Amino acid sequence: MGELYKKYIPPEQEGPVVYIKGARLIDVVKAKVIESPVIAIQGKRIVQVGNDKEIHIPEGAQVTDCSGLTLMPGMIDSHLHTMMFNCLTFHNYRVSQWEITPELQQMYGLFHAQLCFDMGFTTLRDLGLASSRGLMTAHLCAVRDSINAGVLEGPRMFIGGFTSITGSHLDLINPRAMQRYGFQTADGPWELRKLARQNMLVGCDVVKTCATGGGGTDKEEPDIRNMTQEEIDAIVDEAHAFHKIAAVHCFTPAGQKMALNAGADTIEHMVFSDQETADRIADSNVYMTPTLLHRTDHAIEMRRMQGTSLFVINKMKSIQSSCFDTFQRMHKTGVKIAMGTDMGFDPEMGTNAKELSIYVDLGMSPMEALQSATINGANAIKASKDLGSIEVGKYADILAINGDPTRDINCLQDKKNIQIVMKEGRIYADRREGKNKNVVSVNPGEWKKIDYL
Ligand SMILES: [Zn+2]
Repeated sequence: MGELYKKYIPPEQEGPVVYIKGARLIDVVKAKVIESPVIAIQGKRIVQVGNDKEIHIPEGAQVTDCSGLTLMPGMIDSHLHTMMFNCLTFHNYRVSQWEITPELQQMYGLFHAQLCFDMGFTTLRDLGLASSRGLMTAHLCAVRDSINAGVLEGPRMFIGGFTSITGSHLDLINPRAMQRYGFQTADGPWELRKLARQNMLVGCDVVKTCATGGGGTDKEEPDIRNMTQEEIDAIVDEAHAFHKIAAVHCFTPAGQKMALNAGADTIEHMVFSDQETADRIADSNVYMTPTLLHRTDHAIEMRRMQGTSLFVINKMKSIQSSCFDTFQRMHKTGVKIAMGTDMGFDPEMGTNAKELSIYVDLGMSPMEALQSATINGANAIKASKDLGSIEVGKYADILAINGDPTRDINCLQDKKNIQIVMKEGRIYADRREGKNKNVVSVNPGEWKKIDYL
């Protein structure tokens, strides 16, 4: 029986051992900095980590010299939406919903993922898209698969399949007059189990659902329930039955409790909170994604400019300060935080690291912020065996940074500071002196607005 189930694992550690050396290395597991580090890599994985006295580089070995630079793990954005429209691409997202085809949208999904990758995000958890053309789970999975197959360059992606009820906030964020396609939403435990299964059939890694209303709920009340406990229990159970993660959008403590009761793996957003529920979350294994980047004045203004409905703008303004308060409460209470931006509607895809600067402004240490975007993200998506830190046995997802993010987290926002982006031992971006290798060569503003064409 054991023999039958012995997996064939393709070799990942063949070929010569190659080396990277830098000025310092951020060890996010031990929360310390190693001076004069050397990393040895064979194939896709790290085989040795230490300082230049511990690791001897043999004569003639291939060395990537990152003298003066900080080596750190590739970053993970645990919550974003690459196939959402972006106002640098579309003048008015509501108009463009009628003009864009899923095929074109998928191309933008890849492009947006590449913009993040170029800025050091080697892993993205894309929590899906419900669009005017239906659920985009299969399109997102194809973007992921084309990258994994090595035919297109991009980050490693984990894809979420929306499994939500009729009239959920995801439904309402679209124009009311929009034509709904069949089985985009479902109601009752068995319909929802089927929708979850359909999402998993096309290949999603994460089942995403909404326990409460959200930015698209056109009511002032923050505590609108989206689904019953019976429904959320069914979705989480279905995800776990297929060994998938369940990610639950929650705006309120009532929603957070429902997610905890159902056994959810991650809770999305930090909006409203109370201490009793925060304590419960801190005592659980659940990770939370704050998604504060799209709560800023800048993000709200960008949304207004691209034609977002006024009720959504007003709602975003009214919840703004409570989002920041909730983050501070959750952080103080010891809730496990995985960095997530919810980028999608907001422009400037690739500026994800601004999220970390917000955390530091709100009281996190830069090291904690870096952990949220690396090891915590890997733990949240249950991939810490392979990802999230520079340790022996893990994938060589390594960045070389001009600057020291443990002292100045803002250095991660400037593309020229992201000098090397390596994924699984291969260098995709190299902006060191004399090199000019980028994943994406166009700059914001250089591409046309689709609804002007
Ligand atoms: Zn989201």
